[in-house]
Amino acid sequence: MSDEQGCPKRMTYGPCGGVRDDASCELDQRPCPFAQPRAEVVRWTEPTAPLPTGPSSRLLDAARSGPVVLSDLTTRAYDAAGLAAVVDVLRGSCDAVLVGEHQNRPDFPPALMAMLVAQAGGTPWMTLTCRDRNRVVLEQELAGLALAGADGVLCVTGDVRAPGVRPGVTQVFDLDGTRLAARARECGHAVAVPEAPAAVPRALRPARLLQKQRAGAHLAVLNHVATPGEVADFVTAARALGVGIPAIAAVAVYTDERSARVLQRFPGLHLEDARVEAVLEARDVREAGIEAAVAEARALLAIEGVVGVNLSGLGSGAGELAGARVKAEIGDRIREGR
Ligand code: SF4
Repeated sequence: MSDEQGCPKRMTYGPCGGVRDDASCELDQRPCPFAQPRAEVVRWTEPTAPLPTGPSSRLLDAARSGPVVLSDLTTRAYDAAGLAAVVDVLRGSCDAVLVGEHQNRPDFPPALMAMLVAQAGGTPWMTLTCRDRNRVVLEQELAGLALAGADGVLCVTGDVRAPGVRPGVTQVFDLDGTRLAARARECGHAVAVPEAPAAVPRALRPARLLQKQRAGAHLAVLNHVATPGEVADFVTAARALGVGIPAIAAVAVYTDERSARVLQRFPGLHLEDARVEAVLEARDVREAGIEAAVAEARALLAIEGVVGVNLSGLGSGAGELAGARVKAEIGDRIREGR
């Protein structure tokens, strides 16, 4: 599908997770062609790449014997020393660190980021997006990530760059996340794919995850939803369709106004507003935010098919190290109970 036909990311296996609640595009008011009333899931028809052996991944191995914790990495861009300091705070509290790729905050290339995280003692899971790289450069990164110690790759299409952010810079989208997942599997990576259970069109989301499994995914990383019950409904529906890959569910980590509002503004993410306000009105907001995250994690881990949680968001508006300390405390409390 071309931009002219409706999708600015030229997605084949849409919709992305950013569809707005009125079925319009994450970029503007255009209707998302994958989310209209008669839309059907786009089926993966290519063969899944065979592997002589399963991928080597510490996170996937750990998930076979108990719940795992995956912590988002939040650092200043192009700051290797800052990255090492944040990883040093996180590394004892989680099984792996998830490195993002943001439309408004470019950073070192993913292979270099993986190397820096590994050198700092973390287990890097790397997000790779299709926005800023053509197919050749994506293949270069997949090869580089294998050498750089990446434990796995989260294959995403990526957000469209917001209006006004780096105007005049092209956006590539040669591939979408599903096709990137297939390429990553061919390269021998442990492959994760995102899915957004609460994003429109909700009824198609479980079948969409099934297509990503067929493309080669080993793991699903789910976006925030308002309640664990919605995750349970999604996972149950996906398993009924034949999804057998495990899921990691997102836990919203916020301990102040700024870190909460950042999560609430994100298209495709759904938080329970009453819960957010209860945390923000607490006498000790930091402790209330940590307790809310731990409680959410425990509820999510009780769902069959959910093997871990992703501690997601800034964690704190007081800086990267403060946010990392919040996530580390949450990770420690979750792991103490496992
Ligand atoms: S919401 Fe996503 S899939 Fe739909 S048109 Fe926009 S970019 Fe494409």
